[in-house]
Amino acid sequence: MLYVILGTLIISIFYLWKKIKKLERRDRVKTEFFMNITHDMRNHLNIILNTSKLIGLKVDKNLNDRIIALNQSSYGLLKLINNLIDMTKVENEFYSLNLENHNIVDAVEEIVQSVSCFIKDKGIDIIFDTEIEEKIMAFDKEKIERIMLNLLSNGAKFTPSGGRIEVNIYEKSSEILISVKDNGVGIEKEKQKYIFERYKQVKEGEVYEYGGSGIGLSLVKSFVEMHGGRVTLCSDYGRGSEFLISLPCKIINNEECRNINNFNVEMAKVEFSEVINKS
Ligand code: ADP
Repeated sequence: MLYVILGTLIISIFYLWKKIKKLERRDRVKTEFFMNITHDMRNHLNIILNTSKLIGLKVDKNLNDRIIALNQSSYGLLKLINNLIDMTKVENEFYSLNLENHNIVDAVEEIVQSVSCFIKDKGIDIIFDTEIEEKIMAFDKEKIERIMLNLLSNGAKFTPSGGRIEVNIYEKSSEILISVKDNGVGIEKEKQKYIFERYKQVKEGEVYEYGGSGIGLSLVKSFVEMHGGRVTLCSDYGRGSEFLISLPCKIINNEECRNINNFNVEMAKVEFSEVINKS
């Protein structure tokens, strides 16, 4: 009797294991398909975008307005595709950090300066302040750019004209804190709990009003956590929001400090596509 039970158990476990393996294989194939298709979409879209920019140089004013609208829509679509690609990479742990020693204060200031024109165009004030002049630490420059661009573009998206966005940097114990604070629409208390979850947008139908996919903040959280840091939100509904990032101050020994240069302006245009559209 015992042998029969044991035999049945082993066979059941075997079939279960085979089923799991089959599901894993199917999942892998789907992920690969999704990655290929999104990369392909991005390649085609880049060709469309570059061509329309070239055409924009040659056409008269009337048509140029249409070309500008076409470019903005292409940037919006590119943002969505980039977010989908990044989300799939994060989910499948394809991402690794490219850590280098940089001055984090310079890096953040450069990002703020590079996008301040988009924010000011919407009639919003942007203020950068720091308690420290220099802090050399190891971080992935591109990921920090994505984090900051997402927080700043959200700030601009959800702050009406006449408002203000403040970026502050300070050091506490062995951490660097970066605060991005706005006096915009704010987020309701009960909605704050799931704000960093994927696909979450606070209001029903928000996508029609502001655009977006609800992926950005989940990526921010993943990128911050990959650095061993945390991101928290403090928001007062109707009065504004503050996103606070804390990053551990680690350094790569025996490695020089790299200069912050060639900020990716195209990436900023992609991230700010919804804001530029509305201004
Ligand atoms: P999306 O691409 O839709 O903006 P995010 O993940 O970046 O996706 O943001 C999710 C949601 O969080 C937004 O749709 C918005 O409802 C809310 N949100 C994010 N940042 C702010 C902010 N600074 N002020 C008010 N609401 C915000």
